[in-house]
Amino acid sequence: MRATLMYGAGDVRIENVPDARVIERTDAVVVVGRACICGSDLWPYRTMEHSDTGRRMGHEAIGIVDAVGADVRTIKAGNLVVMPFAYSDGTCVFCHEALPTSCIHGGFFGTGEADGAQAEALRVPQADGTLFVLPVGKDDALMPSLLTLSDVMGTGHHAAVAAKVGPRKTVAVVGDGAVGLCGVIAARRLGAEEIIILGRHADRIALARKFGATDVVSERGDEAVERVRKLTGGFGVHSVLECVGLTESMRTAISIARPGGAVGRVGVPQDETMPASLPAFYNNVTVSGGPAPVRAYIEELLPDIIEGRIEPGRVLDRIVSLDEVPDGYRAMNERQAIKVMVEL
Ligand SMILES: [Zn+2]
Repeated sequence: MRATLMYGAGDVRIENVPDARVIERTDAVVVVGRACICGSDLWPYRTMEHSDTGRRMGHEAIGIVDAVGADVRTIKAGNLVVMPFAYSDGTCVFCHEALPTSCIHGGFFGTGEADGAQAEALRVPQADGTLFVLPVGKDDALMPSLLTLSDVMGTGHHAAVAAKVGPRKTVAVVGDGAVGLCGVIAARRLGAEEIIILGRHADRIALARKFGATDVVSERGDEAVERVRKLTGGFGVHSVLECVGLTESMRTAISIARPGGAVGRVGVPQDETMPASLPAFYNNVTVSGGPAPVRAYIEELLPDIIEGRIEPGRVLDRIVSLDEVPDGYRAMNERQAIKVMVEL
C-alpha cells in the first residue's frame, strides 16, 4: 500500500510500505477514504532533521473498517468511522474523566507511536475506544465537516471550553488557521456575545466573519493588545482561544484577557517557557488547555454537523489525491490553502 513519509524539512514522499494489518487483538484496520494535512504537520515540515527511515504522517481520517482483532467488540468490518488524532481504550480512569488524550493505553497517530493517516490504510490501536461509527453513507455531502471531528473542530471547541466561553462572554481568537476558525464556530455555538478574530489573511478573515466573528484585529503584538482593549471598554476579553502556539501569540493571548479571564490554549507550544507570567498572575488569568480530547467531544458536536447548524468543513479549501500530498504540504506552508483534504 502507499503512504506519506516525511524524511526531513520540506521532504515529503509517497512510498510503498507494508500493508496495514491487525497486530494486537484490540486493533482495527481502516481503509482511508479521506484524510487531512494539519497545521501541526507544518512544524516538522519546516524544521525536521533528516531521517533515513522517514516518519509516517497524518492523524485525521474517515474510512471504512476492513478488519478487526479478536477482542474488538463494538466496531465491525464495513463500518464508516471517524478517527480522532489520538487513540484511547475508552475504559481507563482518564477516558472515564473525558480526557482520552491522557489514556493510559493511548498514544498519537503519525508520531511514531502509531501509523499515519495520510495513507491508503492504517492500523488503529484500541479500536473500540478510538473509532466512532458515523450515521451517514460514505459519500455524504457532510463528509468534509465530519472529517473535522478528527481534530480541528474538536480542538477549536476544546480551546473554547478551556477559555470558559459562554453566553454574554466576550471572546478573542488568536490565530486564523483552521483551528482558530473552528474556534470561532465553537465560541458562537457556546453563546459568545462578541468574537474578535486576530488574524491578517483576507480569505481566512472572510470565513471567520461567516462563522460568527464580530470584529477583526489584524495588528500584532502591543498594537493588537491596544485594539482589543479599545474594543472591550479598556479591559480585555473574558475568554481567549490561543490557536497558534508561538511565544508571541501566547503573550498576546494573556495580555488581552481581562482580570479574572481565561486563556484556552491548543496551539502546540513551540517554547518551553510560558510568556507573560506576571500579567497572568496579577490579573488572576486562568491558563488552561492542551491536546484536545476530541474523541470525548464527537457525540456533542456531531448533531450540529448532521443538522447543518455548523459547517466546519468549509476550512478544507483544497482537495488533493494521495500522490499530490507533497504539493498539499507546500500549498499549506505557503498559505495558499487554509487546510488540505486528501481524497483517496
Ligand atoms: Zn483510556
